[in-house]
Amino acid sequence: MSEQQVMDVPFLDLAAMTGDVRAAVSDAWLDLLDSNRFIGGEAVDRFESQWAAYCGTTQAVGMANGTDAIQLTLRAMNIAEGDEVIVPANSFVATAEAVVLAGAIPHFADVDPATLLLTADTVTAELTSRTRAVIVVHLYGQMVDMDAIGRVAERAGIAVIEDAAQAHGATWRGRRAGSVGHAGCFSFYPGKNLGAFGDAGAVVTSDATLAAQLRSLRDHGRAGGSHYDHAYVGTNSRLDAVQAVVLGAKLERLDAWNMARRAIAAQYRAAMAATTIDLIAEAAGARGVYHLAVVRVPQRDRVRQWLDERGIATGIHYPTPIHLLTPYQQLAREPLPVVEQAASEVLSLPIFPHMSQQQIEHVCGAVEMADELLLTPEAIGA
Ligand SMILES: *Cc1c(COP(=O)(O)O)cnc(C)c1O
Repeated sequence: MSEQQVMDVPFLDLAAMTGDVRAAVSDAWLDLLDSNRFIGGEAVDRFESQWAAYCGTTQAVGMANGTDAIQLTLRAMNIAEGDEVIVPANSFVATAEAVVLAGAIPHFADVDPATLLLTADTVTAELTSRTRAVIVVHLYGQMVDMDAIGRVAERAGIAVIEDAAQAHGATWRGRRAGSVGHAGCFSFYPGKNLGAFGDAGAVVTSDATLAAQLRSLRDHGRAGGSHYDHAYVGTNSRLDAVQAVVLGAKLERLDAWNMARRAIAAQYRAAMAATTIDLIAEAAGARGVYHLAVVRVPQRDRVRQWLDERGIATGIHYPTPIHLLTPYQQLAREPLPVVEQAASEVLSLPIFPHMSQQQIEHVCGAVEMADELLLTPEAIGA
């Protein structure tokens, strides 16, 4: 591919995934119309059992979205005012936002330069006497080293909450995202690897007491099956049956879709082997599901424009670390050099299960040419 023409490569193609489940969802929605059970009920129970079984936990509790999944998990653990929760500074803002919404204080941590994930060392550096939990984020679809984090957390006596919103189906030494910590929080926002046709979320855990607490909190603090007895100040964060049937239909395809994502990532890696550009490293023991295909490049904005001129849509996850965003700046205690450097270099390439071979090759060719023409030693000041 020497002569590069323009070919439209969207960042994500939801339509193809929707097409795969269209018939199954229409049938299930028609049944739902007849049942008139739009919130909770059999459809939600069924998806919760399927999702718990898939993740390898005994419980799954459907929620209205992923932010509530994290916030209510913290509240169910009685983490509140004055408590500190360690979060990586390079996540979607919701990770830290949920901590603030629960009344606690997010304490921002740096990450490993190769994987951009929390490590035992970066978590240990942020521990204080007020730390109650760490939220590990399986960023871009790759799981954190849960063995190392587990040892740190056990020694410190703090809970491990997994933000698995980008990691549906990812594994760490064979264990699925969400099942290794005390609780795993998922978003089913449409663009996630498992996405609803609207907002949805869930918490998975094998702690039955925690799950019961979450079921109460998501439903106005209702106590044990009673409609008018409210044991807690809860909220309304229930999962709609309308979304549960979509998730059930898509769950049947999740492994195949994740395999397709991994195959695309492998092609990207192979094509970039001879360049100075590479995808974020996959840690030994981790099997990622490539929610995003992220490279680190100097001259990121020039490379991004180069790809744009060739029809290739890209993203940046995330342009500003959370501790540098206006509402969170007052909580930042120190510079976080790895996160801050990465924010100016990360670039997310298109990746979605139905990407065509031509689209994949077009991206590979454009990245190779960008490396040759834009990332010369003179250009990057090496
Ligand atoms: C999407 C996402 C969330 C939030 O989920 P919502 O369903 O949008 O509330 C939380 N954390 C991470 C890492 C995410 O990517």
